[in-house]
Amino acid sequence: MKKIFYLLMISFLLSACLMPPPPAPQVGSAPSSESQPPANDQSSQNQNQPSATNEAQSESHSHSDAPHTSDVDLTHLEVGDGKYSSSPQVGYVFSCQTSFNGGGATGTGNWMNGDGTWNALMKAVVDGSVTWPHEFTISIQGDQRVFTGNGLPDHETGNYPISASDDAYAIDRNPNSISEQNVTVSLPANPVVANQPTCVGGEVGIMLSGVPMFNAFDAGGRDAGAHEVQDNCDGHPQEAGVYHYHTLSDCTTDTATGHSALMGYAFDGFGIYGYYDANGKEVTNEDLDECHGHTEVVEWDGQFVEMYHYHATHEFPYTVGCFKGTPSVKSIGGQGQQQGGQNQQGEQAGQQPPQEAINACSGLSQGASCSVGNMTGTCMTPPNSSQLACVPAGGPPP
Ligand SMILES: [Zn+2]
Repeated sequence: MKKIFYLLMISFLLSACLMPPPPAPQVGSAPSSESQPPANDQSSQNQNQPSATNEAQSESHSHSDAPHTSDVDLTHLEVGDGKYSSSPQVGYVFSCQTSFNGGGATGTGNWMNGDGTWNALMKAVVDGSVTWPHEFTISIQGDQRVFTGNGLPDHETGNYPISASDDAYAIDRNPNSISEQNVTVSLPANPVVANQPTCVGGEVGIMLSGVPMFNAFDAGGRDAGAHEVQDNCDGHPQEAGVYHYHTLSDCTTDTATGHSALMGYAFDGFGIYGYYDANGKEVTNEDLDECHGHTEVVEWDGQFVEMYHYHATHEFPYTVGCFKGTPSVKSIGGQGQQQGGQNQQGEQAGQQPPQEAINACSGLSQGASCSVGNMTGTCMTPPNSSQLACVPAGGPPP
């Protein structure tokens, strides 16, 4: 008792001495437990006040200017090999495809720490600085956001196929060349959260650079960000020449303070933002839900709106773990406008299902009923495919 009183007296005297302006109300009052907090409150009130996020004030207060900070250790990122699941799960890819058959990097880089982690600062980079005749437009047409372009990036790329003289060649002998694509994608302009998440195929969205974002896996179901060697802008081509990312490109600049800027769109129409949340802090899986997103105030079509969105992370699965809304396409240039393997994940070899079977399941979920002509079946992901396809009720093709 005595000790506590003594401490209170000291702190009371200290506060009285150090803070001359508000002594009047305190001098007369006993050093009760209430005498201390007001002094603290007055000095810290303004900086500790959480920023208001109510709609009325959101335009002026929701966008903090907090500088970007990070606790993420880029030298020890957990390797995500095999982290796919058949239901939504934090830190995993809820993948429509659950059988993988090879492809991707062939060697083990010296940036693999050997303890289940990898060092992003040590990773090899594919050489080169090739420029491309990039074409890309985004427009709102009715309730749709329409993307058209040629799939070529607005930034430089490495030399592909990877040259035998490139040190990256020892780890990843990507034999593919980058080629022009016919990108036409239409996504909901104002997406809504669906009752249930949907699994992702090989492609998960399209970035503002005009380049598709693929999921976190290489064709072998391994962590593409950790194993595959990409160029300086974190991209590389698959077998049909589609240049793509598996992680947020370092060539995309995030000029925002506070919450990161928009970087691209997932196939359900929701935005994919950079690494930082509304407090300017780098997000990790702990901050995000099973689809790798959350709801915060973000800038959306020029306004600050509280809505669902995905974040890029340095942590696996990097961008989209599942679709929180309803995906309207499964791939860039999909919906039957292109033939063959051009739209597939394509880092894998193998027989793809017929395009009409894929079209029949466009926008549907795994297990949904479907029909092609007068045949009925179920939407599932056949072996060797990254896409949902309508499989006849009589039995899937082997
Ligand atoms: Zn956010």
